[in-house]
Amino acid sequence: MVRSPLRLSHRQVEEFLRSRRQWIADRLAEATDARSVIPPLPGAGFVHHRGQVISWDGTAAALERWQRTEALAVFGAHLERLLPALGVAQVRYHSLAVRKMRRRWGSCSANGKITLNEYLIRVPDACSEAVVAHEIAHLVYMDHGPRFHALVRQILPNYEEADQVLNGWTAMLKDLSPSTNNGARGPVEHHVLWFDSDQDALAQSSSKALVNADAIISGVRPSM
Ligand SMILES: [Zn+2]
Repeated sequence: MVRSPLRLSHRQVEEFLRSRRQWIADRLAEATDARSVIPPLPGAGFVHHRGQVISWDGTAAALERWQRTEALAVFGAHLERLLPALGVAQVRYHSLAVRKMRRRWGSCSANGKITLNEYLIRVPDACSEAVVAHEIAHLVYMDHGPRFHALVRQILPNYEEADQVLNGWTAMLKDLSPSTNNGARGPVEHHVLWFDSDQDALAQSSSKALVNADAIISGVRPSM
């Protein structure tokens, strides 16, 4: 049922509805996408990994360790693949770290340290790749202006599409344990990539390190 002021004719109401129909259809499609993008877990012992549902019969701690290792490997590979698109600006890159965050997918500090949410290992690779593209573009532009977006599209032409899918996965973060936080200092796996001028290639190593999380910026969707 649609309530309308009495003075609006039946025809006017129909015209209004027709003009709004596409808008309503678009909003419904978006809502449906957001619900269906995350494949449901059949029950305990299943977990999301790189956009798929996998079974896991180990402990939660072992799962966490394994996914963190996978996160460093997968995100490190995204970085190595995308960083050359920055040209000389790639030397501004300092290091990659992963940590659990509830309100951010990633961040990039002014001194070139990129921190990614380790839960990104649960979303499809195309989505974690989009976050990497986003963060390395911050090595050049620290804002979200038009030049920043042009650079992101240059680094990753399908960025918008992957970012839309990532939006649908945001709901996953809301279901996580409240003990996970952004601001705490804590041990994280630290993955370092640097430009090796002797070999003219990106080299890498891993170590344990302490990272200081940046200020929390919360919003409707996780920031990055
Ligand atoms: Zn950003």
